[in-house]
Amino acid sequence: MASQEVDLVVVGGVVLTADQDWNIYDPGAVAVDGGAIVSLGPHDEVERAYRGRERIDASGKLIMPGLLNAHTHAPMTLFRGIADDVPLETWLRKYIWPAEARWVDPDFVRLGTQLAAAEMIRSGTVLFCDMYFFQNEVAHVCKQAGLRVVIGEGLVDFPNPDYRTPEEGLQRNEYLLQKWGDDSLVMPSIQPHSLYTASSDLLRQAKALADEYDVPYLLHVAETRSEVQESIEKHSRTPVGRLADLGLLGPTTVAIHGVHLTDDDIELLARHEASVAHCPESQLKLASGFTPVPKLLEAGVKVGLGTDGAASNNDLNMFGEMGTAARVHKVIAGDPTVVDARQALSMATLEAARVLGLDDELGSLEVGKRGDMIVLDLDVPHLVPVYDITSHLVYAAHASDVRTVIVDGRVVMRDRALLTLDEGEIFAQARDLAGRIAADLNRKSPIGNRKSSREVHE
Ligand SMILES: [Zn+2]
Repeated sequence: MASQEVDLVVVGGVVLTADQDWNIYDPGAVAVDGGAIVSLGPHDEVERAYRGRERIDASGKLIMPGLLNAHTHAPMTLFRGIADDVPLETWLRKYIWPAEARWVDPDFVRLGTQLAAAEMIRSGTVLFCDMYFFQNEVAHVCKQAGLRVVIGEGLVDFPNPDYRTPEEGLQRNEYLLQKWGDDSLVMPSIQPHSLYTASSDLLRQAKALADEYDVPYLLHVAETRSEVQESIEKHSRTPVGRLADLGLLGPTTVAIHGVHLTDDDIELLARHEASVAHCPESQLKLASGFTPVPKLLEAGVKVGLGTDGAASNNDLNMFGEMGTAARVHKVIAGDPTVVDARQALSMATLEAARVLGLDDELGSLEVGKRGDMIVLDLDVPHLVPVYDITSHLVYAAHASDVRTVIVDGRVVMRDRALLTLDEGEIFAQARDLAGRIAADLNRKSPIGNRKSSREVHE
């Protein structure tokens, strides 16, 4: 029988599907056509049946699903290291919000997202869920970079660099829902910043919009102890209790962080089939506390991993998040059996896809799903020998072991060379801007007249 021609075959490596049954083919191969996986299985079978117009030889390497980052603020790469070692409230009010008011515009968002996209592709991430301003720019950068993104304009009550009023913010979001609703790489969502920065009215209107378009509804919830205390003082309810009272909990609701949760909160999240986006390194660095992941998993709540923004992490490396999540919960529980390697990897693949309502298309290597995968080098000292590949990925692999990244069947990094982004140009621009931000912060030189085209993509 003649072999069928397809767009791409990735052959010869160990294929870790990360599907429900944790199927592994060694050696295996994957065939992709029209951006979708059309076949995967033992190497010889796939090689016999499919001929790729493009062929990647992954012999001796690992082929696995690309990682999904369930929560970040991508453009904040440009604020990385601007203020560390301070509490969240101080960090936000004294440093981040003033810096955002001063510097964030469409140019800033474009450049910050390009930098983030380069870092994420290099560390094997194929999708990130973003909350920030000027999300139309984020979408355009990702289209060009060939990276998947879930966009969500951060909705707040107060004027910000992007819009003046909450109504304008909602309109901006509705525009994004209509514009990007059918895109192959960009998926819109609705993302109020939090229960303490958005009024009950705004939160409800935003939820109505999310329901109308059937997209995820994400917001920061119970990140700090003081947020919970304030909620109880003002509303006599925990943040999750308030979400339930306002009718905002449901299968598409994602509580970002969910650190300080009572048993009642967990029961509410489970009953409403809501999810949690857990960002362990940001929670560690800001000493926010720790999402009770073992309890959430036990209650059947979906949990995805995220990096949070680069100014609070301080990187966008999902390998780091997996390793940290797997380790830190063991210490907290005093039990080395909790959050095992499979669970940690799932939270960055299939579970993250379930959190975002995208598990029909993403999160594992299966026929019919999108062709999103990464190829890792196994020929490095810290990964030799292999007894259990999943253990290696969570406890020993480095982000820099990722050699090749494929999104929707398109190769965006080949053998560590980025094919869609000009890093030299991005780095030069980022350094130039950082010089002006630093000078402004130190008041060593007059505030620079930052040139901005204010050009906004339509
Ligand atoms: Zn965040």
